[in-house]
Amino acid sequence: MNAVVELESVTKTYPGGVTVLHGIDLTIAPGELVGIVGPSGSGKSTMLNLLGTLDRPSTGTIRINGHDVAGLPDRALSALRATTIGFVFQQFHLSGGTSVLDNVADGLLYSGVPLRHRLRRAEAALVRVGLAHRLDHLPHELSGGERQRVAIARAVVGEPALLLADEPTGNLDSSSGGTVLELLRELHETGTTVVVITHDQEVAARLPRRVELRDGRIVRDSLLEAYR
Ligand code: ADP
Ligand code: MG
Repeated sequence: MNAVVELESVTKTYPGGVTVLHGIDLTIAPGELVGIVGPSGSGKSTMLNLLGTLDRPSTGTIRINGHDVAGLPDRALSALRATTIGFVFQQFHLSGGTSVLDNVADGLLYSGVPLRHRLRRAEAALVRVGLAHRLDHLPHELSGGERQRVAIARAVVGEPALLLADEPTGNLDSSSGGTVLELLRELHETGTTVVVITHDQEVAARLPRRVELRDGRIVRDSLLEAYR
């Protein structure tokens, strides 16, 4: 089976010459739920940008759903991102003056799906995250946990192969955070590959596979330990 994510000897050096990722090897299979865990400054956001094809590695190889990122021109990379990757961020990033339903439908804006179908699929995604009763609300009328569920619906409405969540519970109380984690788990159980980036050990402990970063290196991968 083809991996969704394959990193081989990946390094990242920012302009100015500081290397913040060193020799990263990481394979994520379809349907996994993986936490990338580490303290502030360990390289998590840099990893997220590479996994999300928002940035390119300095050396090494990255394949997303089998596509070698280095070989793709910017436009092809944007297309790969739009069709293959859904993003969820700590700050939700919803459009303020736009209904919940339209926020989610906008997740299909660049997919070529006609408006009527975008709205129908958005509604189905909102049903899936338990927000069927909030379609016409504006984001500011929702709680933080509900906003993050809208953001998750928007991220998965196009059925991406890979869902990347950067500190998805970072702005939530522990109860709403638990609901959001439960939702990510349900998506994983129905086949979506989910990567959660977190500095929170309690969040990480609830994920089936944990990859720990320290100073730009993987110091532990619970999956590899299981085979030792
Ligand atoms: P984390 O998300 O785990 O806190 P980051 O990936 O944001 O870690 O940062 C890792 C290291 O890379 C830090 O030392 C940070 O200062 C540095 N860094 C991040 N982005 C840049 C950048 N654009 N230019 C230079 N250094 C950066
Ligand atoms: Mg970060």
